[in-house]
Order: sequence, then C-alpha cells, then structure tokens
Amino acid sequence: MLDIITLLPDHVANQIAAGEVIQRPASVVKELLENAIDADAKSIQLFIKDAGKTLIQVVDDGKGMSPTDLRLAFERHATSKIKIAEDLFALKTMGFRGEALASIAAISHVETHSRRAEDEVASCLKIEGSKVVLQEPSTQLVGTSIAVKNLFYNIPARRNFLKSNTVELRHLIDEFQRVALAHPEVKFSFFHNTAELFDLPATNLRKRIVGILGSKIDSYLVPVDENTSVAQIKGFVLKPTQAKKTRGQQFLFVNQRFIKSAFLHHAIQAAFEGLLPPGFHPGYVLYMELDPKTIDINIHPTKTEIKFEDEQSLYAILRSAIKHSLGIFQVVPTLDFERNPDMDVPYSFRNKTPSSPPIEVDSNFNPFKEHSQRKPQKDPQWESLYAGLKTDDLASDHKNETEGLLMAVQPASRVFQLYSKYIVCPLQTSMLIIDQNRAHQRVLYERFLSAITTTKGTSQQLLFPQTIQLSPLQLEVYKTAADILESLGFHLNLEKKNQLSILGVPEFCPQKDITEVILDALEKEEENGGAESFSQADLMAKKMAKKLAIKTGTVLDIQEQQHLLDDLFGCKETTVSPFNRKIFLTLEKEEIEQKMM
Ligand code: ADP
Ligand code: MG
Repeated sequence: MLDIITLLPDHVANQIAAGEVIQRPASVVKELLENAIDADAKSIQLFIKDAGKTLIQVVDDGKGMSPTDLRLAFERHATSKIKIAEDLFALKTMGFRGEALASIAAISHVETHSRRAEDEVASCLKIEGSKVVLQEPSTQLVGTSIAVKNLFYNIPARRNFLKSNTVELRHLIDEFQRVALAHPEVKFSFFHNTAELFDLPATNLRKRIVGILGSKIDSYLVPVDENTSVAQIKGFVLKPTQAKKTRGQQFLFVNQRFIKSAFLHHAIQAAFEGLLPPGFHPGYVLYMELDPKTIDINIHPTKTEIKFEDEQSLYAILRSAIKHSLGIFQVVPTLDFERNPDMDVPYSFRNKTPSSPPIEVDSNFNPFKEHSQRKPQKDPQWESLYAGLKTDDLASDHKNETEGLLMAVQPASRVFQLYSKYIVCPLQTSMLIIDQNRAHQRVLYERFLSAITTTKGTSQQLLFPQTIQLSPLQLEVYKTAADILESLGFHLNLEKKNQLSILGVPEFCPQKDITEVILDALEKEEENGGAESFSQADLMAKKMAKKLAIKTGTVLDIQEQQHLLDDLFGCKETTVSPFNRKIFLTLEKEEIEQKMM
C-alpha cells in the first residue's frame, strides 16, 4: 500500500495560516498600521478603495527596510522582533508572530516600496499569491508603502463571505480608530475612495480622543489617572449621561495595544454601578501600562485577547481608579477652594466654635473590598467625593478640600434668590448663578432614576385613595409602565372599566397634584419626543422631574435655597438638566472686574 501522508505545498500552508490571521480587510489594516508604528513612523496614511476589497494601502515614514529585508519580511516566521524565545516576554512592539506579511501576500496582490534613510534608492517588490513576481529598485521617500490589492482573490469562499461595503468599512474604521487612539503622537490620515475620513495631527491624548469621537465628547470626558506598582492607568471615562445601549465607545489599551477583556470591561462597568440604567454601557478610553512579563498577548492569532498574571488586583485597581474619578471630578471643578476663611464664616458666627462638618472619612476604607451599600439619595451626597479614596493620607488631603466645599456653599446667609428664578451663590473668586427650576429637575430626575434602577422608591399611603379614569391610550401606556411607576413609589391598582386607583404615592410627590402627575406620566410621547431617552424608565423619570420641579416664579426661603444647592451638588451630574439645559453659569471675579474697567 502506498504511503498516504504528504506535506502541504508552501502556498497552501500559507493560505491556511492566512485565513487564521486575516479574516477581513480590517485585519490587513490592523497588521499594516501596527507594523508602521513598530517602524517608528511619525506619519501614517491609509488609503482604501471599496471598503478594502479593491485596495488597502498604508504609507509610512518609518525606518524602512533594506532590499533583502523587504524580501524576507514576506517569508513566514520572518520577524525582526524576536530572536530567542525569551524575547517574547519582554516584547512591547505590536506584532511578533512574523506571519502577518506572509499571510497577506499569500492571499492577495502586494506591491511594496521601502527605503531606509541610509539607502540612496528604494526597492520595490511585487508578490502575487506568495510568488515574487518582481523585485527592482524604485523611487520612494524614506519609509514604507505597502499596497494590498484583490484580497482573497484566490480564496473565493472568503471573498464571497465578506459583508457589504458599509459593514466592512465600519470594521476598517474600528481598527483605524484603535491604532490612532493608542498613538496620539503619530499623525494619521484615512482616505476612502476619494473621501478623507480622518485627518489627525500629532497631538495629546485628549485631543486625539476628541478628534476621533467628535468635539461634542470633550465636555463629557472625566480623566482617570492612577499609579500603582502593579499597573499605571490613565485615560478618560465618559460621564454616565453619555452611556449608550451599544458598546461602540469602549476602548481599552494595554501597553499601547487595543485589547478585549470581558473581565476588565466588567471592572469598568462595576465602577459605574448605580449610575447607569440597566442595559447601558459606559464609554471609556483607558490605557494601562503593565510589566510585559506579567501578561501574555500571544494567545490569539488576532492578538486582541490577553492573559494577565494578576487579574484580581487589576480588576480592583481599575474599578477603584474609575470610581475615584467619577466621584471627584463631577463636583469639584465647579467650585473653587482658594478661599479666604474669613469670608466663608457668616458674621454672626465669627466668634463661635465651629462644629465639625457632617462628613466621615472612613480611614479603614479599602478599595479592594466590596463597597458597602450606598446611603439613600436623600442626604446630600458629599460622600461621592470620597468614592474610591484609598489611603489615610489621601483621605486627609481631600478632607480639607471637602470642608472647603461645604463651607463654600453652606453658610446660610451667603446665597440669595434673584428674580424668583435664580439662586446666586458667591464663592471666593467667582459666583454661581443657578437656575432653580433646572437644578430641581436634575435633583428629582436622579432620585427617580435611582429609585427605578437601584432601590425601591419609598411610598406614602394615601388616607383617601383616589381614582382616575384612563383613556384606551393611557391604559396602553400604563400597562407598559406599571412596574416603573411601582418602583418609583406609586401604589396603583387597575380596576375594571379602566379605573386606576391610587393608594400610595412617592414620598416627594405633592398630594394635591397626584392625578395630574400620573396622567402626565401616562401621556404618550410624540414620535420623537422620547428619542433622546435611554428607556421608558428614563423617560418616566424625566417627565416626573419636569412636572414636580420647583417652578420659575416660586419664591424660596433661605433654607429651601440652601437645600436645593446641597441636593444639586450631591447629584452625579451637576451641570445640565435632564433635558440638557445649562443648570448654572459661573461668573468669574475677573470677568466682573474686567467689566468694571
Ligand atoms: P512581525 O510584525 O510580527 O514581525 P510581520 O509579518 O508583520 O511580522 O512583519 C515582518 C517584518 O517586516 C517585521 O518584523 C519588520 O522587520 C518588517 N516590517 C514590516 N512592515 C514594516 C514597515 N512598515 N516598516 C519597516 N519594517 C517593516
Ligand atoms: Mg507585524
């Protein structure tokens, strides 16, 4: 009998390997962009035709290749990045399998030009389906250009498997964005057919993020910055109000490489606990630096997955770093702390011994332990300032700031109402002018939302239950909203003939308006009215907040004004109302002085 085992010819082996690394045009883009980065390019251009089905070209100004290296680069297991197995562990560059170019060349038509600074001419290499068809001197500036044409031309099954241009382009953009976000110091441009999709100058992290995610995002970026012996974390999370039902705005980089980690993603999500309605995903662009010896990125051919030596600590560090940022950065920047203590103490209190502010710093606080249950929303949430603080010395650092914050807005004689519409709150070097209606909308909205999403709203029973007659339309809305209303603290009962009886209402619902509040809540939104809302729960919280908020024209006494401010600055978001209107403006002392000139 004949032997039946044969060795696969090289070009077949290459095609099989290629299928593993290159799944679609976007995989080529990723490999080529990463190679350009590894070659220390300062400027990278990406040209795409027909979502990559016709052409993918990357042009860089990196260190280039000698003619021999250019030839070798397309051999399997050809890499300049590892020489011995140990190198694998210390490697920080992007790719190190040494098979990307070989794979690409096995399944497309490649034309490449490359030149090093020390060479007088460039060299050109053409490969079709792993076969070199041409190598000759050429003209080209220092750097490398690789054009990949007719991807999968020799694997029809793959080619037919490609999705529509729109879908493939979306993948291309994703890969491009990931690399561009990881390297703000490199200039990038991206052309699709004749359109320039991105033009990103070399810049800093924040500007790069804005360049990619859009200028609207800027004001929602909350910085994260944490240094520990295990990991350094920097970057930004988006404010909870920017959370989305999709995961489009989630970028996590480890040692400048985009990775997917369900585990670390979970840590980030956990930091937002209680701040997001169910089913919503926070946005983030976070960068972790870890000792390469403690990670293994080579376990997956496309290299977006990663293994960590010490997952548990990373989880805890990541979560607490973000919690810390969410707690600190949402309130503090709106108030200033450079105050003259004399000015903060109301005159009549000058000679009295101050009692300590109602803040307790938990010196045993340990971010690696589960957080204890949040306090109900009723208290002003100054504690949120402390969320995630780790050590005693940190805590005492911030204690002064927080006392300052309390003092800065608390002394009763310092706030006043203007035009029955605004509350004016003078600070040391500026003045806040707060819209009472919008501020209260924000306060109520967050309370309602938290009642719906986290705890149960507290309810007060009515002495005399009331009934309302629902129209068929209201009935329809009621059926979908009954649970939400219940969790807000409404105690309702649907009787026959569309009669809704009201047995109890949320604590902060004025009893005289009950039927109106409910009818309002059951109003069907016009076509687009609810488009900006997360969900029905969100919509409901907004409607109720609007209905019940203190109106413009309502005269408030000092205590009510003070309460409103306390409540507002205890909110998770303090700057805009649930309907995205500005809650307060800050008038700088300098601005006033300038106007006086
Ligand atoms: P790897 O990146 O894993 O080493 P590749 O197949 O992607 O494997 O690349 C093979 C080699 O070709 C690289 O190690 C590098 O030396 C060289 N190379 C690839 N692209 C470039 C480029 N744009 N500029 C300079 N050298 C490059
Ligand atoms: Mg590579």
